[in-house]
Parts: sequence; structure tokens; C-alpha cells
Amino acid sequence: MKKEKIIIMGSGPAGLTAAIYTARATLDPLVISGSQLGGQISITSEVENYPGFPEGTTGPELVEFMRKHAEKFGSRILVDEVTQVDLGKGSPFHIKTHADEFESEALIVCVGASPRRLGVPGEEEWIGRGVSFCATCDGFFFREKEILVVGGGDSAMEEAIFLTRFAKTVRVIHRRDELRAGETLKRRAFANPKISFIWDSVVQEVMGNGNVEAVRVRNVKTEEEQELTADGVFIAIGHIPNSALFQGQLDMDSRGYLLTDDQMQTNIPGVFAAGEIQDPTYRQIATSVGQGCAAAIMAERWLEEQE
Ligand code: NAP
Repeated sequence: MKKEKIIIMGSGPAGLTAAIYTARATLDPLVISGSQLGGQISITSEVENYPGFPEGTTGPELVEFMRKHAEKFGSRILVDEVTQVDLGKGSPFHIKTHADEFESEALIVCVGASPRRLGVPGEEEWIGRGVSFCATCDGFFFREKEILVVGGGDSAMEEAIFLTRFAKTVRVIHRRDELRAGETLKRRAFANPKISFIWDSVVQEVMGNGNVEAVRVRNVKTEEEQELTADGVFIAIGHIPNSALFQGQLDMDSRGYLLTDDQMQTNIPGVFAAGEIQDPTYRQIATSVGQGCAAAIMAERWLEEQE
């Protein structure tokens, strides 16, 4: 069992910021990356609202800057996934990954969230063969193709706009007649000649034969159903927190978001949380960075108090 002072679970903006702060405080943090180094922003195309980048940047570029920054001060980044946590007896906490086992005096949980599923027939079956949750990852495979995007928020608009680089057409299916997305992305989506909207509609089934071929949608106002032919379906209907590992150990709300106090601490002393795992409201890179910083400062103080 390897002994650590502090382990940071997750390597998105919250985790990497916590790493920068705890490393500068000479706590020698170990970051366990999770399945994707950088978390959700590593699959985000354009980032236009992160301070300090007036011309915008990309998710992967920002991750690379943050990773370098964390490593510069001595953070160690382990590319692995946590498979089990045992917080029951208090500090030190036990953590298992696929390849290792650790004991850590303090923990900062920054494991983020994952794309929400529609939960309709065909969705899981056609993942990788037409169904995708990431335009940046898969858009390239849909050159001159007909694409559907499901959702009405900022993510859906961002995906739709990005996909117009490749696709012949992009039709957005939204369950209401009004977008949730903010004004800027809404305006850009409405102005894009390749994007059209199918309002008041929900996906009933994704159908295919080898690859996705069509989607059956139902109009929630008229109850009419129609089949839309498509080569790809990009689902962007929000996220759910990755808190399953902590079920029964850490307090969470009914949606699974970890509950923290105003010092970013969970119900277990020495276990802190930051970023989207505990933030159902803001979910921005800038807020995750702030929360990661706050959690690191409070974890440092907590460790100091224990000595
Ligand atoms: P979101 O804001 O929660 O939007 C989810 C969208 O999916 C909503 O339009 C919702 O419909 C729809 N939806 C949810 N469940 C559904 C279901 N089962 N079937 C069909 N439709 C469903 O999520 P998001 O777009 O991922 O954004 C998350 C946060 O990140 C937001 O705070 C957003 O502002 C931020 N964000 C910002 C940017 C940016 O500024 N560049 C980019 C991406 C995300 P309803 O509208 O009817 O609820």
C-alpha cells in the first residue's frame, strides 16, 4: 500500500488547479487522472469564456497548459482510474485503482460528470456506429453526412455549430419550442445556414443496420411520430455526476451531486470536493478552477491542523 499525503481524484480544471495549489504548498500531491486526462474540457472544441484568452482557446490546449503548470510545481499525475474508495474509518483513506492501492491522509474529489443518456432503444447499441456524445471526438467521421443533435442547451448548440464544419446538414431536436442555450450560442446557431430545428420533439428510438440510419421522434404537442433519416446522432442533454463510487459514504443530493460545506469539505473530515461533482449550478471552467483552488487551500489547512 503506497502512502500519500494528499490524493486528488480527477484531472479536469478543478483537479489540476487543486494540484497546482497543493504542490506549491509542498504537499506533493498525487493526481489520479480518471479515464480521460483533462476531463470534459479535453473533448470541448472552443473555449471562449475562460479569462485570459481574449481570442479563445480550445479544451485540449487549456488542459495541456494546466497539466504542465501542475507538473511544473511537482504534482505527479497517475493515468489510472479509481475503482474503489473506503472512507469509512476516516483519515487515512483507502483508494484502489486498476493498478495500485493507496492510503492518503486527505482527499480532494474532482471526478466531474458524464454525459446524460436519453435511455431510448438503440442509443447504447449504436454508440460508436453513429451515436456519439462528443462532436470534437467524432465529428470528423461525418463529412457531408446528415446529422441530428439532441438537446437545447449550450452544449447542444456548441456541438451543432462545430459539426457544421463537416456535415451536410445538422438538425437539432429539442423537447421544447425554446432553447435553454445562452444568447451568444443561440444567435450563432440560428445564423448558421446548415442548422435547422425540430421543436417540441423527443427521440423515441435510434434505428440502424450496421450503422445508424434513422431516428424516430415524437412531437410532444401533436403526438405525431416521424422517422428522420440520419447518419449520426449527437446527444447533448446535460450531464450526471460521477458519484457512484461514493454512494453510501459521502452525502449527496437526490441527483447524486456531492454535498460540501462552505469550505468545500464533504461530510467526512479530510475529504474535500470541487468542480462539477459538487456543482449542479455553474459548471463552468472558471468556477471549477475557483472551487479546486478553494478545496486545495482548505485541505492544506486541514492537514496542518492534524499535525
Ligand atoms: P443543460 O444546460 O442542462 O441543457 C440540457 C439540455 O438538454 C436542455 O435543453 C434540456 O431540455 C435537454 N434535455 C435534458 N434531458 C433531456 C432528455 N431526457 N431528453 C431530451 N432533452 C433533454 O446542459 P448543457 O448544455 O450540457 O450545459 C451544462 C452547463 O454548461 C450549462 O451551465 C451551460 O451554460 C454550460 N456550458 C457552457 C458553454 C459555453 O458557455 N460555451 C458550453 C457548454 C456548456 P430543457 O431545456 O427542456 O430542460
